[in-house]
Amino acid sequence: TKERENLNIVVVGHVDHGKSTLIGRLLYDTNSLPQGAIEKVKKISADNGKEFEYAFLLDAFEEEQKQGITIDITMLQFFTKKRDYIIIDAPGHKEFLKNMISGAASAEAAILVVDAKEGIQEQSKRHGYILSLLGIKKIYVAINKMDLVDYTEERFYEIQTQFNEFLNNLNIYPEKYIPISAFNGENIVSSSKKMPWYNGNSILENMDNIEKEKGIEEKPLRFPIQDVYKFDNRRIVAGRIEAGTLKEGDEIVVYPSGKSTRVKYIESWQESDKTDKVSAGMSVGITLEDEFYNKRGEIICHKEDSITVANVFNANVFWLGKNNLLKDKRYKLKLATQEVEFDIISINKIIDAATLENSEDLSSIKKNDVAEVTIKTKQPICFDKFSDLQATGRFVIIDNYDISGGGIISEVEDSLKREIK
Ligand code: GDP
Repeated sequence: TKERENLNIVVVGHVDHGKSTLIGRLLYDTNSLPQGAIEKVKKISADNGKEFEYAFLLDAFEEEQKQGITIDITMLQFFTKKRDYIIIDAPGHKEFLKNMISGAASAEAAILVVDAKEGIQEQSKRHGYILSLLGIKKIYVAINKMDLVDYTEERFYEIQTQFNEFLNNLNIYPEKYIPISAFNGENIVSSSKKMPWYNGNSILENMDNIEKEKGIEEKPLRFPIQDVYKFDNRRIVAGRIEAGTLKEGDEIVVYPSGKSTRVKYIESWQESDKTDKVSAGMSVGITLEDEFYNKRGEIICHKEDSITVANVFNANVFWLGKNNLLKDKRYKLKLATQEVEFDIISINKIIDAATLENSEDLSSIKKNDVAEVTIKTKQPICFDKFSDLQATGRFVIIDNYDISGGGIISEVEDSLKREIK
């Protein structure tokens, strides 16, 4: 049997614009809910004298999860003929950012929900901007609660024009705008009869039309070392392959040292037995022909697809910490399995993520700011540009043991590279 394809999507939007209702609808209308879930929620609603809401379905799941039963709220799933969808549930902006930049959950497409009546809010703009910074190109804007504006074409296009003005300025071009009523199930699974003026597809049809990007297995090999175990006289280099494919006999280079050797033996934890070829997403242990005391943090690549090694680079960072992010102060960053201390040597631009206004004051980065900075690490580290390879192009920033922000690497200028001593 062929494995079913997965697609990870994230649903974002201003509070109360209808995210939970939309998700509840998608699960319900695709028959992806566990048996009895809907009856149960209906009963609870009735018992509490409330009208049934699709959004309650999610609350009910959360409740179940708290009691340690059945469903994992962070991995809501729905199924179509075409593939399985995983909805990355983001209770808030902060959690979403944390998940995305830490790589815990990586969305391939996003649905941005906007209330037709209330229109675009600061939060909608912020989400649009952040999705683009995270490199999520497939953005679908769902204009929800169309029932509250009499399903009118005018209001739909008014919002579309306004939002595009804002987003296009940032080089963001949403794939589609879709007028919906999550509450009434209009344009969720099939085309709505209430909006004959709309020729496009429903939310679900749009999702099914998404083409998955070229497999991460086909990208350059990136194998960050998690640990090295000693068994008898063998040293097993263990970790998770983040990109590419690795075979026995391959010539590899370990960065940042740049030493090269060949792969002698591969074992995959998943397969439990021996395999001679492994690829992205798998946790593996390998033995190398030469022993040069590899350690956690180093990254194994193929000779022909080298990674950048540098101690100075430019990045876009998002700051979520309580205290301002300061120039010339020591912080720690984690990139793949590397951990290194760094300073920000210059703050080049600060943007308020909601208004997108440039800040005049470049002295420090406040909570919820996005900034373009130049970073200098204490030792050289290895990385890629985020646009080339996400897993080795993003990092999280640790301030006092807390993940307080994150960043993506935008460029390494040649002039910067020369600073390595
Ligand atoms: P969230 O905070 O974005 O998850 O929003 P919810 O899904 O909880 O929805 C907020 C409120 O808007 C709830 O009372 C919903 O019933 C209501 N709502 C959601 N979608 C629609 C819609 O299409 N039409 C109308 N009239 N109300 C809606």
